[in-house]
Amino acid sequence: MSNGVILPGATLGVLGGGQLGRMFVQAAQAMGYATAVLDADPTSPAGLVSHHHVQTGYLDAEGLARMAQLSAAVTTEFENVPAQALDTLAATLPVAPAGAAVAVCQDRAREKAHFTGCGVPCAPHAVIETAAQLAAAGDDLLPGILKTARMGYDGKGQIRVKTRAELQAAWDELQHVPCVLEKMLPLAFEVSVIVARARSGQVVNFPVQRNLHRDGILALTTVPAPGVSAELAAQTIASARKIAASLNYVGVLCVEFFVLQDGSVVANEMAPRPHNSGHHTIDAFDVSQFELQVRTMTNLPLVEPVLHSPCLMINLLGDLWFEPGSSQQREPDWAGVLALSGTHLHLYGKHEARQGRKMGHLTVTGATLAAATEVAQQAAALLGIEPF
Ligand code: ATP
Ligand code: MG
Repeated sequence: MSNGVILPGATLGVLGGGQLGRMFVQAAQAMGYATAVLDADPTSPAGLVSHHHVQTGYLDAEGLARMAQLSAAVTTEFENVPAQALDTLAATLPVAPAGAAVAVCQDRAREKAHFTGCGVPCAPHAVIETAAQLAAAGDDLLPGILKTARMGYDGKGQIRVKTRAELQAAWDELQHVPCVLEKMLPLAFEVSVIVARARSGQVVNFPVQRNLHRDGILALTTVPAPGVSAELAAQTIASARKIAASLNYVGVLCVEFFVLQDGSVVANEMAPRPHNSGHHTIDAFDVSQFELQVRTMTNLPLVEPVLHSPCLMINLLGDLWFEPGSSQQREPDWAGVLALSGTHLHLYGKHEARQGRKMGHLTVTGATLAAATEVAQQAAALLGIEPF
């Protein structure tokens, strides 16, 4: 370390071995760092490509000690890493983001309180931790979505409810864990903004990206975001920057927003790490969200990312590895897709394809968004993905 900068050659640690960790490892290695991954799974996507792979749980004292010994700094790729693991490591080495910031993002109730505290509106909601709070929740929140306060992802841990009877049944089904009841809002579309914030307080951001979800899972990200006015872009970017600054955040942070049919915007949730809606930054920007994660944790300079190619990012879910409506396995037509110009294939090295499991993504870049869209539709057709 010199001037607080951790230079290439050092080892960077990451908690979690999923695809986000894998792309972090690949970015760090491209810049000349060695890497260490903490994940109990011996075949985790990041562990498979890392110099070191510590195979223990997140709170295992020996595993954490080994990570501290190997690493010059540590980050996370998974928001549900216990904040305590980050705090333990922070006693001996730089950790970004900090456990306290991750803890806010782990809990929908705290997350929404943070948005509101920053003056950023979110969906009308009620925190439901007791039967009394369930009874007191206003009828104006119905129809709504009951979401577990913790551990939800890809639409899991969420139940849509129209009546009080359905609300009660949903809470029973979720086994009375702390929840947030959110009013169902009339969405026009969804966007997200990714920022990176340095220890010095410097913040840079990627432009707004437009996200299409199918069955609660991100299906498509488009940049530049169609239908987003300059005002809407400025507003969401300012909100994301404010949210990061007021957490005193260090690292990469993604804020998801709903754009409502009346044109107003509410924050949905945030992730204290690179995000699926930022995977296109690897192929379409001069600096990716993963490289910015490396730069924030090593105290290297941040630069405003510049888009060099309009693009679409298509998520490749495990469904594509099955014949439609059957359990018969198949290999998607990668050769057909790669014959199209502007396609960038990323597969995460997961051995078992399952319905809804994120297996990889395909970014399509083009000279114009129209050209990229045309190729993306051709690729989708070859892979058996519904047209966008
Ligand atoms: P992620 O994989 O992004 O972490 P998640 O499981 O945490 O997802 P949310 O982002 O809360 O879930 O919701 C998933 C999707 O469900 C949203 O992107 C949106 O399409 C829809 N949705 C969630 N909340 C609402 C709402 N209040 N009104 C309308 N649609 C909603
Ligand atoms: Mg979400």
